[in-house]
Formats: sequence, structure tokens, C-alpha cells
Amino acid sequence: MADYYQVLGVSRNATSEEIKKAYRKLALKYHPDRNQNDPSSADQFKKVSEAYETLSDDNKRKIYDQYGEEGLKGAGMGASGGGFSSMEEALRTFMGAFGGGGGGGSIFDSFFGFEEGHGMHQGAHKKVSITISFEEAVKGVDKELAVMNTVTCSQCHGTGAASPKSIQKCTTCHGQGQVFQTRGFFSMSSTCPSCHGRGEIITDPCPSCYGSGKVRKKQHVTVHIPPGIDNDMQIKMKGFGDAGEGGGAAGDLYVFVTVQPHDTFKREGDDVYIDLPLSFSEAALGCKKDVPTPHENTCRVSIPEGTQTDKIFRVKGKGFPNVHGRGIGDLLIRIQVETPVKLSAKQKEILKTFADLETPANHPRKKGFFDKVKDFFST
Ligand SMILES: [Zn+2]
Ligand SMILES: [Zn+2]
Repeated sequence: MADYYQVLGVSRNATSEEIKKAYRKLALKYHPDRNQNDPSSADQFKKVSEAYETLSDDNKRKIYDQYGEEGLKGAGMGASGGGFSSMEEALRTFMGAFGGGGGGGSIFDSFFGFEEGHGMHQGAHKKVSITISFEEAVKGVDKELAVMNTVTCSQCHGTGAASPKSIQKCTTCHGQGQVFQTRGFFSMSSTCPSCHGRGEIITDPCPSCYGSGKVRKKQHVTVHIPPGIDNDMQIKMKGFGDAGEGGGAAGDLYVFVTVQPHDTFKREGDDVYIDLPLSFSEAALGCKKDVPTPHENTCRVSIPEGTQTDKIFRVKGKGFPNVHGRGIGDLLIRIQVETPVKLSAKQKEILKTFADLETPANHPRKKGFFDKVKDFFST
């Protein structure tokens, strides 16, 4: 069994705040919602949660320090006898450390900016949607987006004050940020109503941001869309969201991509389908065709004689590039044989002559069908 302190990467005399901080960081990293394709992270998540469960409890920590994990078991305080067996227990610990917060994917939203501790807040994350053409998805494209972001006011550098002189110690709380009231035997503290806990007040607000320290600004962002991108994929642009507070990191920008459907090509994963209409004489006699590919060129395919409708020919490496750089999909050519219409008198005559010469061997499928029907009625 690994040492709980080592699991969390903290020293033996770490404060409870340090332990909490370390756990939050690791728990976010290994959280199963974020690592759905990596089963080993679930174990890591259980391990760090178990370590935190013990070390965050003063009593348990004392026993652990003195007697180790065995001591906890003896005291009936073990995490189900050493090790979180279920993910539920680990998730409960996780929720405890983050002060609740919904389930599923939304929980991350609820504590964005939480990791950085006191006074520091990461800026808000942003989402933008863009639509690109099928061709752009094949080749990849750089798109410029305009995003309204909250940025630090350049005039006051985020202080919200017109000048350094206009920042003064709050007189209500004497810079403490907290006020104390005594009622009978109780002394209660609450956040200072004058400065809202900041400990200082601004006598003369910055004219540019009206004292907020932040301004809204249209920013132009170039997003690099890789070849092979598909619908419902998103691109994360780290640090392109709102500015952080109190030295916190900026939020991220998530670009949600929609790819317009194509008239001719239909995508399935990295493969691309195309329907190729053939006349019945082409299908019967065989032919050569130049078939368009998604790569703005054509490929020549030989259609053998006697090709049936719905037959699919696969051309390797002419489909969509894989978005993760894992090769290129295939082009799948689906044959659609077209029955001729608007026949001239001469064509009809020739076809009638042809029909007189037809034998059951010309139509194996048709023959098989009627043989089956015959069998059905004779039994
Ligand atoms: Zn300002
Ligand atoms: Zn105050």
C-alpha cells in the first residue's frame, strides 16, 4: 500500500489546506468523467480520494501517522478495510472536498476557477460555435473569430482605481475585511459591508472601467481547425476566455464545430460514401469511370461487366483524413444502375430483340427469386 502522503504528493507536516489543495488538483486530473477511456485513472482517483479521506480528518490522520493504515482498520475507521472498493465512496469524498456541486459533466463547470485558492479566480470559459464547409473539414482551415471577452482594464491594470492614491484602507473594518459584532455571549464575524471583504475601498474609480477593473473587449482569435474534423468536435483554446481575477489564469475558449453536409459525399467516420449512377448498358458491359473524391481530384475506377446496383467499390486512402493524424479513410463507391427512360422507337425495337434473346442465366437473382416462390407454392 502506498503512503497516503506520497499519493497526494505532500509532506508529512503539510497543513490541511495544502492537503486539500493537492487532493483537488489530483482528483480533477483523475476524475472518471474526464478520463473515460483510461481505466487506470479510475484507480488513481480512488487512491487519492482514499488518501484524502484519511488525511483530511484530524483524528484519522493522527492514528494513521502513529500506526499506519493497520491502525485505522483496528479502530474501525478504515476506508472499508483498506482501499476504496467502490467508485461511489471516492465520488462522495470528491463532492465533499468541492463543497457539493451537481453530477455528470456539469460538475466541472461548477468549480471552474476553484483550484487556485483564495482570492484567485480563473476567468470564465467561453463557447463559440462555427460552421465550416465539407471541403474545409477535409483540408483543415484557419478561421478568425471575434470573441467578446472580459479583459483586465489597461488603464488601471485591474485595480479599478483612477490612481494608486485613490485606493484606501477601509475605515469600517480597518482593512480587516471582516467586522465583529458582540451579541450577549457571542462574538460573530461577518464580511465587511463597506468593502465586501477586500479591506480597501476606492475613493475615485477608474473612468475607463468604472471601478470594476475589467472591460469588455472584442478580441480576434484565429482558430486552427485540423483536417478531418467532424461534427460535434470541439477545439479548446487555452487562455482565450475571460481574464482571471487576482492573478488567476484566464478562462479557456471552446470552439464547437459544425460541418455542413455535402451534396455528393456522405461521411461515415473517416470513410466517405458516394453514389455513382450507371446506365444499365455500362453496368452490363463494364466501363471505366472517373469518380470525384473529397480531395478535389478524381480517381479512375474500372467497373467490371455484370455489376449490380448497390455494389460497393472501396478505394483505399481516398476518404477523410483522420483528425488525430491516424491515416486516411477510404472512398466507398456505391453503384446505382439507372433504368433508361424516354426510349426512342428504335431503342425499343432493339430492346425487344434483346429481350427475346435473354436467358434465365442472364439474371441469376431473378431466377433464384422465382425458384424460391415456386418451391413455396409446391409444398
Ligand atoms: Zn480601469
Ligand atoms: Zn471594510
